[in-house]
Amino acid sequence: MERFLNVALANRNQKETVCESHLDFLRAGANVITTNNYACVPSALELSPKSSPQLITDLIDAAGQIARQACQLHVQELPLNSTVPMVAGCVPPLHESYRPDRVGSESELTVEYARIVEAIAPHADLLLCETMSSVREGKLAAQAANRAGIPVWIAWTLAEDTSGQLRSGESVEDAVRAVNSYENVQAMLFNCSSAASITEALPQLREAAPSRMLLGGYANGFQTVKVSGGGREDSSGGQSEYDGDSTPEAYAKQAQRWVEEGVEIVGGCCGIFPEHIHAIERRLRVG
Ligand SMILES: [Zn+2]
Repeated sequence: MERFLNVALANRNQKETVCESHLDFLRAGANVITTNNYACVPSALELSPKSSPQLITDLIDAAGQIARQACQLHVQELPLNSTVPMVAGCVPPLHESYRPDRVGSESELTVEYARIVEAIAPHADLLLCETMSSVREGKLAAQAANRAGIPVWIAWTLAEDTSGQLRSGESVEDAVRAVNSYENVQAMLFNCSSAASITEALPQLREAAPSRMLLGGYANGFQTVKVSGGGREDSSGGQSEYDGDSTPEAYAKQAQRWVEEGVEIVGGCCGIFPEHIHAIERRLRVG
């Protein structure tokens, strides 16, 4: 958790590093970047002796400013009339990622998500509720994000057994139904899951989502440890290392296949680096 705390505090203490990271992805060809406030939640900040609701709001606000600044700097590097990249304001899980059992109470989620949305929305072109592991978490994040009046993208994280279900075991169909009625929801995606899990679940998403919805996927590059012999995946210890097999070219090929199957938004989550984004950009540009 200390790493999370430092990532959150970097929005105040290492602004230039955060900005440079955004620029690395923008220069690689990303046209959407996500604000660095995934870790700006009370559960991560409580390790800091100075933790307070105000500190959290200030860090989120700083994360938004840095992302916007990176886009502005990048635009100056581009030829005139180039597409201006967009800032996605992050709306993250409030507790440990991948743990539907740790999702808090409805009142906690309502209060905290309203706070996060209020702080990040002024800097964002869209709000990205990401790594949502259960129907309820996704719904309450979407409900808060929907009130900001800008486009909302909802990204769920999937079980690693390629069952095509959320990490909670709930179905994609139920997840879609829970957020469908919010008028600002513009895209539904899967993120921070293996590319294989996303490939498995995308047809269900296409079937369940209304036709106006944009679809997307941005996998992680984590290694998934196989239990020897049984072919079963170890969900507890398997998420720590980056997967050396997920080369930029291999991932870009996968992303291109998703696009050919009608997915509009592709990108990368943890362990997907600027080299991967550059490979995707090259492939999609060449066609
Ligand atoms: Zn991730």
